[in-house]
Amino acid sequence: MEYMKKEDCIFCKIANGEIPSRTLYEDQLFRVILDLGPATKGHALILPKDHAADLYELPDETASAVLVLAKKMALGMREKLHCDGLNLVQNNGEVAGQTVRHFHVHLIPRYVGDGQKINWTPTSPTSEELDAVKEQII
Ligand code: AMP
Ligand code: ZN
Repeated sequence: MEYMKKEDCIFCKIANGEIPSRTLYEDQLFRVILDLGPATKGHALILPKDHAADLYELPDETASAVLVLAKKMALGMREKLHCDGLNLVQNNGEVAGQTVRHFHVHLIPRYVGDGQKINWTPTSPTSEELDAVKEQII
């Protein structure tokens, strides 16, 4: 099936099969591959076959399907890898840590004592500041 791809995008080439990958799952919309720089054993990436740079560009159909697939993969990983938990991570923009500008979801199996941190430092806004940001968003 021909799909929308971007010439210089490595994840388009991987999703399309032009560059080989350790594929865990494939269907019409997605390919799921092993990450080459895994945080933990089994760290995988869900790649849509159509190019979208990030969440902002993702078509609704793909956006709805991606969490269903993440759940399916999570259940399979729990069964096969016996992981103790799982982080879904999805970065948008350089400031958020996105290094490949083709939307992807990280599936990061977690194991007790794996030593990885997917974390942020909580801040302490005032009640007024929280009210203000709420008003700004809605
Ligand atoms: P992000 O920082 O969210 O853009 O994540 C990019 C991820 O892609 C990183 O975890 C990389 O290890 C991974 N990665 C980059 N190139 C490849 C590749 N050719 N095959 C598999 N994983 C890759
Ligand atoms: Zn792409």
